[in-house]
Parts: sequence; C-alpha cells; structure tokens
Amino acid sequence: MSDCLFCKIVEGSVPSRKVFEDDSTFAFEDIAPRAPTHVLIVPKSHVDTIAAASDEALVGRVLLTAARIARERGLDSYRLVVNNGEGAGQTVFHLHVHLLGGRPMSWPPG
Ligand code: 5GP
Ligand code: ZN
Repeated sequence: MSDCLFCKIVEGSVPSRKVFEDDSTFAFEDIAPRAPTHVLIVPKSHVDTIAAASDEALVGRVLLTAARIARERGLDSYRLVVNNGEGAGQTVFHLHVHLLGGRPMSWPPG
C-alpha cells in the first residue's frame, strides 16, 4: 500500500534497523522502544489489522518469527502484543506484533 509506513519500511524506502527477513515476514527495531528488546514483526503483504487478517499461515509465520527472534536473543520471558484499533492503542494500520522483553512486565496491561 503506497501510503503505509510499514509497507515503506518493508520496501526499504523508509529506513529501519532490520532484525530479520524471510519471504513473507519482516522484523525491525521499534523507533521508540518500550523495553530493552522492542522489535516489530510484520507480514510483508499489507493487511490493516488482525481483525482484517484471513491468512492463517501468514499470521502463524509472523508469530513464530517473533518467537524465533526472542529465542535468538536468549529471552525466555517476553510479551507479544497486537493492538487492534485505535482504542487499543493501534497507531500504524499495518498488522504488526510487538516483541517486548528484557524487563519485568506487569499484568494486566494498562
Ligand atoms: P501500534 O501503536 O500501532 O501498536 O505500534 C506502532 C509502533 O510503531 C509504535 O511502537 C511506534 O513506536 C512504532 N513506529 C512508529 N513509526 C515508526 C517508524 O518510523 N519506524 C519504526 N521503526 N517504528 C515506528
Ligand atoms: Zn502496509
């Protein structure tokens, strides 16, 4: 999608600190990290939200990519977050999973 920030990051027209890439997923460091590890994992193909997603295999790849990055960083406690909709804090409407780790996490999230 031409006006989507994360599509531009996937294409490389907006720079990012890339963490991982395969044929269907892309991961990069969050620009405003909320934890020592804060990586965003996205599908390369555009979908606005998890609510709009229908490709089960792709959503599974995104989640397993997050788990792989956590494992590679030696994290055994971490949190994966998907914000869906403005009321939940979604600000970029290209589906993404936040991988947060490296500090204690409280529950429930605010
Ligand atoms: P959301 O609030 O939609 O769940 O998460 C969007 C995330 O994207 C935020 O954590 C925010 O810091 C991050 N973000 C916004 N703009 C950029 C950017 O240009 N580059 C990177 N790397 N992260 C961004
Ligand atoms: Zn997009």
